[in-house]
Amino acid sequence: MTNETTTKPYILAADIGTTSTKTLVIDRAGRVVASHAIEYPLHTPRPEIAEQDPLEIYQAVVLGIQTAVRKAGISASEVLCVSFSSAMHSLIAVDKEGHPLTACITWADNRSSEQSARIKRELGGHEIYLRTGTPIHPMSPLTKLLWMKENDPATFEGAYKFLGIKEFVFARLFGRYVIDHSIASATGMFNLRHLTWDEGALALLGLPADKLPEPVPTTYKLQGLRAADAAEMGLETDTPFVVGASDGVLANLGAGAYEPGIYSVTIGTSGAVRGVVDRPITDPKGRLFCYALVEGFWVIGGAINNGGIMFRWVRDQLATLEAQEARSRGMDPYDYLTELAEKVPAGSEGLLFLPFLLGERAPYWNANARGVFFGLSMSHEKKHMIRSVLEGVIFRIHSVVQALEEVGGPTAEVRASGGFARSAFWRQMMADVLGTPVTVPESYESSGLGAAQLGLYAMGEIKDFSRVHEWVQTGSRHAVDPANHLVYKELAQIYMSVYEQLVGNFDAISAFQHKHASAR
Ligand code: ADP
Repeated sequence: MTNETTTKPYILAADIGTTSTKTLVIDRAGRVVASHAIEYPLHTPRPEIAEQDPLEIYQAVVLGIQTAVRKAGISASEVLCVSFSSAMHSLIAVDKEGHPLTACITWADNRSSEQSARIKRELGGHEIYLRTGTPIHPMSPLTKLLWMKENDPATFEGAYKFLGIKEFVFARLFGRYVIDHSIASATGMFNLRHLTWDEGALALLGLPADKLPEPVPTTYKLQGLRAADAAEMGLETDTPFVVGASDGVLANLGAGAYEPGIYSVTIGTSGAVRGVVDRPITDPKGRLFCYALVEGFWVIGGAINNGGIMFRWVRDQLATLEAQEARSRGMDPYDYLTELAEKVPAGSEGLLFLPFLLGERAPYWNANARGVFFGLSMSHEKKHMIRSVLEGVIFRIHSVVQALEEVGGPTAEVRASGGFARSAFWRQMMADVLGTPVTVPESYESSGLGAAQLGLYAMGEIKDFSRVHEWVQTGSRHAVDPANHLVYKELAQIYMSVYEQLVGNFDAISAFQHKHASAR
């Protein structure tokens, strides 16, 4: 450790998300000294399109750093480094001067669903997944580039480079085209074992590797800001920028879930389960993703579509009167509905809900799956339906945890986050279904804290991530209720069996829906 760096007490973490860029100023004890978030819109002119303006996001990064530094009241010489976290899977075509030729096409954009299905079916998709760790899905830049080649060949051929949003920001600030191994590993075109662009994926696209940025470790540093940019952000021209990693893998680090058997579970609108392993592992059954964090740390996991949004559906469609009642009493409708659900025993007296209203990603990757109430009888009331929906969402998480355990080893503990974690009842249900204790970290800024830890590591200030535990305070802890766990174990079997027996019928009802929706 040099004297120069010890006099620099603050790390900046910039987290470029889909709805906002959040910049944190963090001291060496992990305290957030200041933060600033700048929101920007997601443009969805058609249902399959989800784009953003890359220049707007670039400006949010610069303004976010400037404002956070000003709010913290610190001087440029006190900043050790700026470290980055970013959403995955984005794609921007740029010209030789780095000007955008397209919008930033985000992970939520589904324009390439036909290409995705074709890669899976006819173009060796499973082998590409096994080498790259990114499930073949319209979210991935691989399928987006095939879409562009077939639908906008002039841009595909004419572009100088194809970048993600974080690479775009670095190109503007430093004139360098680099991509960290973590974001690269979520493009569907990066070979996990060789840490280079995958020849097979590029051959499928007919894309030369020099049209993509240069892959570098997540600890790679960029230096040499223009004087005007440095002054605008309140930094020195040689303040190091640590390229950082994806928000998903950094959230695990920032929640302290980076040891074997500690899985992180997030349920917001959608949901995800993630665990850390020491080498790249892909799933022979193709259910899970594998993304890089740093050398020797890889994050495997799966995302589900039908997370907290199922509870929103209940609030807005099924229990509208109850929600209204809650509002008239000045209560949050979610709290009121969970109180009703609590009146029903575990297992909802034999009512099961398969929450596939949005089709499903992991572990089934079945876009045609649909929702099912199973086991309804005259004795079931609205409160049973509410409870069974909450249980159904946790069963979804359970099926991803099971897939993860098959390839990554048994679960010892779950760190929970996202909107669902506001409910102690729902958190306890997770412990009881999974049969694993559930803890909730106090901070919601996991990705930013993870980026700051990575920054310290990249600067050589820490040798490993063990101090993350000092940074992450545990808010609450739920032990497993053994009686409830037994009930859920029994019900989980029926749940799986119902799903499996309905697969053919899901295809039929989804085809029926498409046909009759278009005829309307
Ligand atoms: P986002 O994915 O947009 O970040 P959040 O993390 O805020 O969303 O999660 C929103 C979801 O959290 C809601 O759809 C709901 O399922 C759940 N939720 C929010 N508040 C509560 C509450 N008080 N009790 C139970 N669940 C809640």
